[in-house]
Parts: sequence; C-alpha cells; structure tokens
Amino acid sequence: MAKENSIDRGVIESAGAARSALLEAAPDPMLVLTSAGRIVRANGKAERLFGAARGGLQGEPAGGLFVGDEDPIGREIPTERTASERRIELTARARDGGEFPVELTLSPFELDRSLLCLVAIRDASSRKQLEQELTFMAEHDPLTGLFNRRRFEFELSREADRATRYGGGALALIDIDNFKRINDTYGHIAGDALIRAVARAIAGRIRHTDLVARLGGDEFAILLPSSGLTDAYVAGEELRCLISESEFPIDGQRLRATLSIGITALGDSAPIEEILARADRAMYQAKEAGRNHVAIYTESGSSPGEDDATGSLAWGERIRGALEADGFVAHFQPLLELSTGRIARWELLTRMAGPQGRLIPPAAFIGPAERFGSILEIDSWAVRYAVATIAAAGRSSRRAPQIEVNVSAISILDPSLPELIATQLAEHRIEPSCLIVELSEAAAMASIESSIAFADVLAELGCGFALDRFGAGFGSFTHLKHLPLTCLKIDGGLIRNLPRSAVDQMFVRSIIEIARGFGLHTVAEFVGDSETLRLLGEFGVDYGQGHRVGRPGPSLAIGAGGL
Ligand code: GH3
Ligand code: MG
Repeated sequence: MAKENSIDRGVIESAGAARSALLEAAPDPMLVLTSAGRIVRANGKAERLFGAARGGLQGEPAGGLFVGDEDPIGREIPTERTASERRIELTARARDGGEFPVELTLSPFELDRSLLCLVAIRDASSRKQLEQELTFMAEHDPLTGLFNRRRFEFELSREADRATRYGGGALALIDIDNFKRINDTYGHIAGDALIRAVARAIAGRIRHTDLVARLGGDEFAILLPSSGLTDAYVAGEELRCLISESEFPIDGQRLRATLSIGITALGDSAPIEEILARADRAMYQAKEAGRNHVAIYTESGSSPGEDDATGSLAWGERIRGALEADGFVAHFQPLLELSTGRIARWELLTRMAGPQGRLIPPAAFIGPAERFGSILEIDSWAVRYAVATIAAAGRSSRRAPQIEVNVSAISILDPSLPELIATQLAEHRIEPSCLIVELSEAAAMASIESSIAFADVLAELGCGFALDRFGAGFGSFTHLKHLPLTCLKIDGGLIRNLPRSAVDQMFVRSIIEIARGFGLHTVAEFVGDSETLRLLGEFGVDYGQGHRVGRPGPSLAIGAGGL
C-alpha cells in the first residue's frame, strides 16, 4: 500500500512537472484559471506579456489583466467540462498601464475533479495594426492622405440617398488648371508637392461636416452634406479665391495654381455616376469660361457662376434680404504710406453676412448683384459707410482718414451715385479728398464715356478717383489722358512676384514713371513680404497694401503714427 502510494506520488509529481514543462514549452502565453477566474498558473511568456515578475500572476483574479467595466474574461469562462473551446478578443492591460489587443482561446479541462480553464493568449497588436493599415490604404490616397475615389463614392452614395429623402446636399468637383504645365516646367516631384499643398489648403478650409477626397491626378471632390446649391457655390468661390491668391513654396520656387470647380445638387434620386457626370460637365464649363471659375450644373447646360434658376433666385433673394436686414459688413484694409511709414488710408471691402456667421467675399455676390440690379444699392451702402466712418474717425483724431471705396461699372451709369456722394459729403461735412472712389481698369475701359463723365463729377466734388488693377489689361496707358484720376492702383499680379521677376519690376517702374508724369499717386496691392516693400520704396510707389502691411479687419486699425 505504502509502495503504491509512493509510486502514485511519483507519478503525480512527474505528471505535475510534465504539465509545467508543457505550459512553458507552449508557443503562446498561457494561463490556467479556476472556474471563478483566479489564476492558478501562468507560463513565463504570459508573465512577460503582462510585465509581471516570475510567479507574480499566481493567485490573482484574471479580470485585472483586461480592460472592461465588469470582469470581461470571467463571464467567458466555460462552466462545463464538455463545453467547446471559445475564442474572444479583449484589450489587455500590462503592469505598466500599456494596453494592447489580444485574442484569447479558452478551453475547459478537469484536474482532480476541479473544472479549470486553459487560456492561450495571442498578442493581436501587429495584426490589428496591419488590418488598420490595409483599411487605411484601401480608403485613402497615398499622395495626400485624403480619402480616395472608392471611399468617396461610398460616402456620396449614402449622402445621395439621404438627400433624396430629406433634401439638401451638394457635390463639388475640383480640377487644377493647366497642371501639365507645372509638371513640364518644374518636374513631376514638384507637381506632386503642389498636389499635396493644394490638398492641404482645401482640407484646411472646408467645414468639418464636409468631406474631401482626391479622385485621381489633379482632381479633387468635396461632398457638402448640409449645403444647398448657393452655399456650395459660396464655398467653391472661397476655395477658388483662396488658391488663386496663395503661393506654394516648393523646391525654392513659389508655385501658384488656380482651380476650376463644378457644382451640382444632390437629391433627385440620380445614381452617383450621373451625379459625378453632372459635376464634371459643370467643371468643364468652368474650364471653358477661362478656368479659375466656379460653375453650377443645370439641365440646360451649366453656366459659369450661378445662373441656373434656383441659384439665381436664391442669390437675388439673399442679396435683397441682406440689403433690407443690414446684412452687409465693412472691412478695412490699411495702406502704408512708404515715404512716412504712416497708415492714414484704408480700402473698404464689403462682405455679406452668410449662413452660420460666415462672411461671403465680394467675388461671390458682386456678379449676381450686377445681374439682379442690386449692385447700385450695395455700392451706395458702401459709400455711405465710408463717409460716415471718415466723419466719425475725423471727429476723434487730428487728421481724418482717407478711405477707398469700390464701385461697379454698372453703378456709374446711374446718375444717382454722384448725387449720393455729393449729399453724403455735404451732410457729414468731411474733407472731400478723404473719399477715394475706386473703379477697376477693366470696368472703366468697358464704358469709357460714362467713366469720364463720372470722373469729372468726382473731380468737381474734390474726391479722389483711383483706377484699380491697373496693368492687368493692355493698352490702358492711352486712356489715362482722358480720365481725371488721382490715383493708380497697380494690379497685384505685377506685385506678388516682384523680387523674383525682372519683367514685373520693369512694368512697375514704367507704370510709376507714367503715373508721376500725370501727377497721380500710386498704390501697390498684394504686398506679401518686406523685400517687395523695400523695392517698391526704391521705385517710388506712394502706398503699399497687402498682408505684409495689414489684413482687412472690421475697424480702422491704428497703424504706426497713424490716426
Ligand atoms: P486643365 O486645365 O484642362 O485641367 O489642364 P491640365 O493640364 O490640368 O490637364 P488635366 O487636368 O487633364 O490633366 C492632369 C495632368 O496631371 C495629367 C497628368 O500629366 C498629371 N498628373 C496626373 N496624376 C499626377 C500625379 O500623381 N502627380 C503629378 N505630378 N502629375 C499628375
Ligand atoms: Mg487639370
């Protein structure tokens, strides 16, 4: 009997040792748990996985090794010996607090009449990471990190269904203009960098509810789920302006780009292929309109701008509403007088209050306002605002500021504008030369007779008259002798690259020389850096305007030695 016992103990001990050796030899981290979830044994691999000391896990509740409010492993432990093996995924928590995904296989077994559970653990971090990387690659464009066509089409199709039921939603297709030329001139690598830079600029500007993707090549798309056609048009115009006014520093060069944008509404149960084709047709219409345009798709063919029935109606109503409800806002951009370093002159820039507190730039509403006959009212509003601001600022300082106010070619055809200017000057008793009326060169040339008549009245009243964007067109010099101007504003296109372009420097020098000959002041717009400012000073320009001097703001900011 004693002998049998000693044999038994030997067998049992050697069986125990064999079990331990087996556990240690297992390829994975292993735990043996009681049916209540307490750890009976853990192999070295499990201890290392959880960062525990040798024997440190023994006797502990297994629930403490995993993340979850209630014991996430306890409820998974099989309660019967015959239960089949169970596979689960949990998040493990190491001793140092680090968390990582694990796959567990739980197998019940019986030892000495006790029900135990063998848990094999597999660290799933690398598999999960690989899965995430694969999912990311399947849905994203590797060059820009934006969503790719596949994911975009999925989202578009979901949104198109929603829009068909509840209305709203728009799609904008964007294509960079003349991109092949960028590749040909600067090389493919610079071209790639430009695509990335444009992608960043677009992604940085859209609303958080909008979704942007690169569909391929130089083509992007934006899904605007909460926008009607008009809002989408405004958003498109904002992007178009942003990109056309930006410089992208690439490879020691400053590259520029413009966008053609086509917009279509969602929501008439058209399949996504049809929706994409409509936006594409509108985009090509924008290209045909000369590129750097936004066009909206209509059944009868898209037109540049917002000329479709709904778009027009919406704009007409919106502008009228803004006029009635005091919905226009004035921003002022300072001009630096180069000879004195003072700021005593500002340009008034009109903005329209848009949805959700956004301000709509003039590029978006001036065209529609001209077509719907509201432009005179907008220009009149700006004149009144400028005169009132000059009067108010003049009362509180020694010297009244000069303010430039833009008017449209259509407004100067109406005799009520000069009348309004005269009565405003008299009513507010301001020095007339403080008000400078600005007309673009193209507008003046479009109707030279009425421009001359308008300029004569301004000269009689003693107001300034500036020709804006001078040098953007051709043959404008000959008209100078007919117009009683006081100021030439040199087109920003000649200024923004001034330090790097000998040709632009030559143009600017000649414009300044001719302006001097006519006794005109000169203003250089788009002054982006100190080097440009220095050169302009050297050339003898009177005023500098642009981001280097000051961005537009809601009030007359006090410049150095200014008001
Ligand atoms: P358009 O104004 O009509 O759009 O003229 P475009 O020169 O931009 O021509 P289009 O949009 O039809 O073609 C885009 C070109 O972009 C075609 C190809 O040479 C180039 N391109 C496409 N994919 C890539 C890319 O990943 N990297 C670079 N650098 N160029 C690309
Ligand atoms: Mg292109």
